[in-house]
Amino acid sequence: MKKDQPTRLRLVKAMEKELNYKRFLHSMGVAETAAALAMRYDADIEQAEIAGILHDCAKYMDDKELISICKKHSVPISEAEYDNPALLHAKAGAILAEEKYEIDDPEILEAIRCHTTGKPAMSLLDKIIYVADYIEPGRCQAPNLSIIRSLAFEDLDRTLFKILEDILLYLQATGARIDPMTGKTYQYYRDELGF
Ligand code: FE
Ligand code: FE
Repeated sequence: MKKDQPTRLRLVKAMEKELNYKRFLHSMGVAETAAALAMRYDADIEQAEIAGILHDCAKYMDDKELISICKKHSVPISEAEYDNPALLHAKAGAILAEEKYEIDDPEILEAIRCHTTGKPAMSLLDKIIYVADYIEPGRCQAPNLSIIRSLAFEDLDRTLFKILEDILLYLQATGARIDPMTGKTYQYYRDELGF
């Protein structure tokens, strides 16, 4: 029997129920922005939209729940993540997307999994979700947002690099602990772009 495909309506309704309203609106903004970027870069629009809707689906979990779901699924937890378990919402989100929301598309699951830190050699979908999360219309605090928003529709890799650079500068300025993967991603794209 053909498996019942998840629909955007089912997922949107689930997120409206699970997330607080601000987070829900953010998720809708990411979904729409991701869909627009998918149109621009010839990616799969449905994949982008679903990954956007679900990317923060584990945001309602507290630190203990995040650590426990990751342990249960043998997901390695770094020191930075033990320090700040909220970072785990991406990995936990990929688990929930698969188990609770029945998403079996590995590309969607991976885009959810790497949306907080990025990773070297991201797929087109990974990049679209990463960038959409940063520029969706509800965002207003990051520096250079208007430049990054227009660059996003011109050159996705340079946009990714600019976002990583701004995030690292911000983390350094505030003295926050930097997840090593964010640094690795930055270095990978700096080399890739020849900067
Ligand atoms: Fe997130
Ligand atoms: Fe987000």
